[in-house]
Amino acid sequence: MNASKLQTPIEYLKGVGPQKAEVLKKEFDVFVFQDLLNIFPNRYIDKSSYRKISELREASVEVQIIGKITGIRYVKQKKGKRLVADFEDETGHIELVWFRSYKWILDKLKTNVTYVVFGKLNYFNGQFSIAHPEIELLETHKNKGRIPLQPVYPSSEKLIRKGVSNTLLMKSIYQLLSTAQSVFVENLPKSICEDLKLMDRAEAMRHIHFPKSLDHLSKAQFRFKFEEFFFVQLRLLRQKIVNQKKIKGYTFSKVGTYFNEFYKNGLSFELTNAQKRVLREIRKDVGSNAQMNRLLQGDVGSGKTIVGFMSMLMAIDNGFQACLMAPTEILAQQHYEGISELCESLDLNVAVLTGSSKTKERKKIHDDLMSGELHLLIGTHALIEDKVQFKNLGLAIIDEQHRFGVKQRAKLWKKNDLPPHVLVMTATPIPRTLAMSLYGDLDISVIDELPPGRKPIKTVHRFDSHRLSVFQFIRDEIDKGRQVYIVYPLIEESSNFDYKDLMDGYESIARDFPMPKYQTSILHGQMKPEDKAYEMQRFAEGKTHIMVATTVIEVGVNVPNASVMIIESAERFGLSQLHQLRGRVGRGAEQSYCILMTGKKLGEDAKTRMQAMTQTNDGFKLSEIDLKLRGPGDLMGTQQSGVLDLKIADLVKDNQLLKTARSYAQHIVKNDPGFEHPEHQVLISTYNQLTKGKTIWNYIS
Ligand code: ADP
Ligand code: MG
Repeated sequence: MNASKLQTPIEYLKGVGPQKAEVLKKEFDVFVFQDLLNIFPNRYIDKSSYRKISELREASVEVQIIGKITGIRYVKQKKGKRLVADFEDETGHIELVWFRSYKWILDKLKTNVTYVVFGKLNYFNGQFSIAHPEIELLETHKNKGRIPLQPVYPSSEKLIRKGVSNTLLMKSIYQLLSTAQSVFVENLPKSICEDLKLMDRAEAMRHIHFPKSLDHLSKAQFRFKFEEFFFVQLRLLRQKIVNQKKIKGYTFSKVGTYFNEFYKNGLSFELTNAQKRVLREIRKDVGSNAQMNRLLQGDVGSGKTIVGFMSMLMAIDNGFQACLMAPTEILAQQHYEGISELCESLDLNVAVLTGSSKTKERKKIHDDLMSGELHLLIGTHALIEDKVQFKNLGLAIIDEQHRFGVKQRAKLWKKNDLPPHVLVMTATPIPRTLAMSLYGDLDISVIDELPPGRKPIKTVHRFDSHRLSVFQFIRDEIDKGRQVYIVYPLIEESSNFDYKDLMDGYESIARDFPMPKYQTSILHGQMKPEDKAYEMQRFAEGKTHIMVATTVIEVGVNVPNASVMIIESAERFGLSQLHQLRGRVGRGAEQSYCILMTGKKLGEDAKTRMQAMTQTNDGFKLSEIDLKLRGPGDLMGTQQSGVLDLKIADLVKDNQLLKTARSYAQHIVKNDPGFEHPEHQVLISTYNQLTKGKTIWNYIS
């Protein structure tokens, strides 16, 4: 078979036909012969070795054993009977069990002949058994050509119904492989293959489907994992170059009065070294003539806002406007207040635009933006609407970017003739290589240092049964002049069940902390924006002691005097959410506390989350644990899929290999971006196939 034969439509493959071809297309994107080879097995049935009965330790594994049947009997059970054969090798005894087809089995089985049996082990009452084993005479077994590791391909109800069985896939792929051996040309440069001792492509293709041994299998897997990571990285890195070439940006050539004035007289604290470094990185980007696309990662409380603000000053100094988009009204409002304060001595005009802005305010904002009167606009999604037009937008900042979809962000690009510089800030830190894979060509800055003088938050886990002592603790803290958050899970803002939890909680708090001594606020997503703002304001001004809330306060909220965070039903929150919530305290000079409340019964994952939270305050460590618990797909939501569509490699488990692949890809893209070097020409065909027709959403961040 030659290479063009592999492009034959799949319905022409022996045993397939139009009906099966239809489901293969729908379920697996298999259109031509070649595509079939790209379905890799999920797992393998291991018939490569034989086990001794005395070595058997755990149930639910598949084993192959050589031995003899020493007796056959019926055993009565609740319903009917089962057929049991005693099976022995020289080391021990197990039972083979059948619940049907007795006669057929009885006729076939003989005692004192050597058989090979295969099946999944059960363990019950101190006894191993295999139900409905595969069984064959050792003689027959020896003489048969066998597949030592049998591939099990992904499947679905639909496939099975249409007759696309594992056997069919196995046979078809086997047939293709045996006739098409020579067409799998190597697609990785020779030097990489040699460096990493990679199995060559044709061989790996054979062993990924029909491994000769476990060792061959792991070499084949290693090769394809590397290949997969490598081409993804190649694509991302090359795209980045293309973007930098293509996407011209505005040049902020000078550091002007606003920035310098603020730096000298406006800052009430010294910037941390990390903040200074990030500002330099941003300054370098905006000073070049390409558009900045930078991701700023920094743990909660690390001081991202001030960095964002000072970047906005760079824009204004160069005659541009700037905007800051936040995911919630509360946060937008808070940023507006904070930034207005910072601007006081600077004579800059700032406005806030949210879904609840009145028509009149809106109109004024639109006018002032167009005339250039307004320098800074803070807001929610409202500011990406088409109606909102700037005279000259130079920088757009997106706070807590994980809350926004990529398409929403893309709209910001269209707000000026050239796309404005974009800075996205996030407090959901993720390991660097992973971030680079998820965000493709975004440049990454990290604030890896907290402002000095912060006392680490003390975190404890308490069961609901300790509620009384927790309440006493709250009283003591309030007596010292502190404020307290109590957060309830409201996974879906519309769920009445959760809502009831919150209201019950609020009532019980109101009972245990009676007025007038204690003042309590409540905040949830179903409230009107002006009511939310009012409650938030009262709490921020210290007029209420306790804030009972849902996760609407999760991101960004900054009330330095609040020093206690109680999280109810903490087991229902993910790690990054718990960490975000905890980040609402520890913002002032006082010792802060986070108390995780749960019921007694906890699942394994929940236990791990509680432990992780009590053991570390480090957002990067937590996100790594979170990744292990949940996998990266969850982490970013659906917005980053595409790049995460990995077939065989795993971003978390194979993270080390990802780093290796990235560094090789970097080397090539740096030295030979056009793949012109003779050794790199092998890359071209696979690369083009992979990039064909794909949008890289990542680059519109
Ligand atoms: P986040 O990174 O979570 O958005 P913020 O920007 O809200 O953090 O900053 C948290 C608090 O730390 C704010 O009150 C801010 O004024 C303060 N802060 C920021 N940078 C410094 C610094 N270098 N020294 C002291 N306090 C700082
Ligand atoms: Mg923030």
